[in-house]
Amino acid sequence: MNEVDGASPLIVRARALHKSYATAAGSVSVLRGVDLEVLRGQTVAVAGESGSGKSTLLALLAGLDVPSSGELEVAGTNVAAAPEHALADFRSRSVGIVFQHFHLIRSLTALENVRLPLELRDGGDPSDRAHKALHAVGLGHRRDHFPAQLSGGECQRVAIARALVTEPALLLADEPTGNLDERTGRHVVDLLFALVEMATTTLVLVTHSAALAARCSRSLFLADGRLHEGTGAVAAARA
Ligand code: ADP
Ligand code: MG
Repeated sequence: MNEVDGASPLIVRARALHKSYATAAGSVSVLRGVDLEVLRGQTVAVAGESGSGKSTLLALLAGLDVPSSGELEVAGTNVAAAPEHALADFRSRSVGIVFQHFHLIRSLTALENVRLPLELRDGGDPSDRAHKALHAVGLGHRRDHFPAQLSGGECQRVAIARALVTEPALLLADEPTGNLDERTGRHVVDLLFALVEMATTTLVLVTHSAALAARCSRSLFLADGRLHEGTGAVAAARA
């Protein structure tokens, strides 16, 4: 953990964040003035209609894409202005991401998938840490299995181990149960929250599930290119 990261209780600070995509059919303006502050240790649910820009927002928070304008600081890094090498360092140290479709590398075993983020970094035995992370998601015994040999729930547990193995300041999860049946999804979520709590990681979770949002310390929804406090359901009922 760097000193700036350690000193600040604010893990995310976004101001007037805009994101547009240039397409052949013209510019698509997705985020139009997002303001967000997330404190260390908070768990934040983000809801919003399909296409409202939830994944776009996570991609910005993860440093996978850059905003068109606005300020964005995550775990002490100025993500909006950092040069690519600093962004790469930020991605490998400060954030972990869990996707709906797991995004595991098919040709690598469970252990190798989890070890991958550590191989960019120095210190400690990557295999040992990766094995501990796999063990923490209950899959130590499946370390040598490939994604195709694992169920959807098991793949997502491997992905969670991969996201947390670097002990990131911020964990991002984009509809992590969207591809799982209800029961498996519940197990995966229980595991995710237990690990987040144990590591006192900050979580930003995109979900359509009101039950899942209710487990977070805070609920936001994205509409009209901006973030609003509360669940979209309450706003819709009042409208
Ligand atoms: P959500 O995750 O809320 O469903 P997304 O962030 O994936 O929404 O997408 C928001 C909008 O941005 C959609 O209209 C989508 O088509 C558009 N979009 C996303 N990525 C791109 C891209 N790379 N190029 C052009 N348009 C994009
Ligand atoms: Mg999405």
